[in-house]
Amino acid sequence: MNSIDSLPPLRAVIAAHGLSARKALGQNFLLDLNLTAKIARQAGDLTGCDVLEVGPGPGGLTRGLLAEGARRVVAVEKDPRCLPALAEIAAAYPGRLEVLNADALALDWAAHLTPPVKVVANLPYNVGTELLVRWLTPPAWPPVWSSLTLMFQREVAERIVAQPGGKAYGRLALLAQWRCSARIVMSLPPEAFSPPPKVHSAVVHLEALPEPRFPADPKVLERVVATAFNQRRKMLRAALKGLSPEIEDHLRAAGLAPTERAEQVPLEGFCALARSLAG
Ligand code: SAM
Repeated sequence: MNSIDSLPPLRAVIAAHGLSARKALGQNFLLDLNLTAKIARQAGDLTGCDVLEVGPGPGGLTRGLLAEGARRVVAVEKDPRCLPALAEIAAAYPGRLEVLNADALALDWAAHLTPPVKVVANLPYNVGTELLVRWLTPPAWPPVWSSLTLMFQREVAERIVAQPGGKAYGRLALLAQWRCSARIVMSLPPEAFSPPPKVHSAVVHLEALPEPRFPADPKVLERVVATAFNQRRKMLRAALKGLSPEIEDHLRAAGLAPTERAEQVPLEGFCALARSLAG
């Protein structure tokens, strides 16, 4: 039953507009509108906020966001087949839904939004990580968005919230946790989607902190972390030797043992190393 608005059920929308899912576009649609409204609620109070949604597809999450009171939703969809279905939603919520038929990777989305801005999306898996990295590395901090509420494959979600000491810990965890709080707020089985993907999914909620947890130059930190995890099994002195001929001195100055491995180093240690290298 569709209890969140007066539009037709999503199965009927998909049938009426011939929206057979395309794998190349990462299309796994959510059909339960109560579930999409629940995902929208994970972003907190949406009234008074513009929401950026990437990949609305037939509009299940879009309808959840609008029903939950978003001031405006800007939805960026690459597949033109979805436009008529999205136009029906725009008509049901006059002045509150703007649909952009574009590739989210090639769009200046900020130009279409007025702060406060929240990003909420069931991301296409093939571009999800790339979009997250871009949102986490804006030219200035705090970013235009105040929070990101994003569906990922469970394994990617675990990498975002990972703590030191395990295989999931790496660049994504450090990038995300340096300037955001990050937690998994929902888990979804494959059957929640049509067609069901091969993997489980999870929703991650990230809130932008006003300032980084520890000071560091973003570019230097990014380079240190990427280099350290590029050869994550090696000791730091070997993995990072390309960064400086005096890498062992820098590691000690940062309070790190040159024999440690990247997986064991907490965020604070990487920030201290980035400061030493930048200095
Ligand atoms: N939001 C819908 C839902 O929850 O049912 C659909 C989610 S589906 C996982 C991902 C959507 O992203 C698809 O509609 C797909 O066409 C769209 N998409 C894929 N690549 C895209 C890109 N580069 N830019 C914008 N949209 C894209």
